[in-house]
Amino acid sequence: MRRRNALAKGFKASLSITERAPDRSALAKCYVLRNITHMDSVPIPCDTESVENDRRWLVDHGRQDDDSLVDPFGRQVTYLRVSVTDRCDFRCVYCMSEDMTFLPKSDVLTLEELDRICSAFVSRGVRKLRMTGGEPLVRRDVMQLFHRLGRHLNSGHLDELTLTTNGSQLGKYSVDLYAAGVRRINVSLDTLDPEKFRAITRRGDLSQVLDGIRTAKDAGHQIKINTVALRGVNDNELDSLLRWCGDEGLDLTLIETMPMGEIDEDRTGRYLPLSMVRADLQERWTLDESDYQTGGPSRYVTIRETGQRLGFITPLSHNFCESCNRVRLTCTGTLYMCLGQEDAADLRSPLRLAPEDDELLLASIDEAIGRKPKGHDFVIDRRHKGPAVPRHMSVTGG
Ligand code: SAM
Ligand code: SF4
Repeated sequence: MRRRNALAKGFKASLSITERAPDRSALAKCYVLRNITHMDSVPIPCDTESVENDRRWLVDHGRQDDDSLVDPFGRQVTYLRVSVTDRCDFRCVYCMSEDMTFLPKSDVLTLEELDRICSAFVSRGVRKLRMTGGEPLVRRDVMQLFHRLGRHLNSGHLDELTLTTNGSQLGKYSVDLYAAGVRRINVSLDTLDPEKFRAITRRGDLSQVLDGIRTAKDAGHQIKINTVALRGVNDNELDSLLRWCGDEGLDLTLIETMPMGEIDEDRTGRYLPLSMVRADLQERWTLDESDYQTGGPSRYVTIRETGQRLGFITPLSHNFCESCNRVRLTCTGTLYMCLGQEDAADLRSPLRLAPEDDELLLASIDEAIGRKPKGHDFVIDRRHKGPAVPRHMSVTGG
């Protein structure tokens, strides 16, 4: 472990922004390749021939394309989630406090800058982009960003452009989102009871969200519902949610509440392990195992009675890090390599230092991926007071 840290440190030093190495991508690969293939042999010569041999070995074994982003644990990063704003028209009780302080607008990247960073990731093998927030659809002119990013779908460099939304603006934007190339949308919805919905979101209107979902379906989008399972709040409603999703032809994913950011209540009492939820659902529904994958952390079953899929995201009761292919960008240009860790990379500085040239930006991305951690250490119990990470989910997006 100490050896790995020493290597990581050396690598980081060699890639500092001020001290420009002659071939950063070779150095980045050198670090990655050496950690994958020769963990026990140090010191490691980083000469071009050995790097090239290792690269060929990885390509031969289907592990790496030429320019792709591979982390020190051999996981290829193909999925970027982008929080385009930290602002939101809701204040969901498990996500935000009532009195949130949002970032000054001057700290936030422009849409052009977000496009540039996303495009840099696409050029390095990212195949899926998800816009999130905060509420992505409350950012002014956000459709311009969707339309710009849509060009990567047309060129074949991107498989999917998608978003996670609370649904409040879908009535307004569904058609335009479809025109930009979006086909699948995740809508967060924790209850079908209008009063409970208002209580959870503190200001949302359920009928507006349901109308938005209908408009999105009519526009041709495939909708998946995301529901945070909350003990004593919606645990008695999961059957009706499953039934409603069956009737509407929607897949559903259940999520465990994660200890992120200070909120106005203790999350411990609301935490509901999905292993228990699943065991309970199995008493009334037939859950057939499914190998369906969306590139996200969800594990799916098919509900035989409805024919729809049910996903489980279980960061606490079953850690999903071993197959992690994602990194997350905030609206200020900070890249988090893990949702549950604080280590981050500043991409705004290299972006702005060289407005016409992406070399520095790409080197910073390489460097960041070179220190993507193995996983998160989320724990939620009464002995661990306060959030595991101080930032709210709305900073890095869900
Ligand atoms: N505003 C959009 C929405 O609600 O879909 C996108 C951002 S929101 C942060 C993304 C997802 O994170 C939502 O599905 C939300 O329910 C979930 N979320 C927020 N805080 C969470 C927490 N502490 N634990 C688990 N999920 C959380
Ligand atoms: Fe807003 Fe989404 Fe957080 Fe709810 S979960 S407060 S909708 S960002």
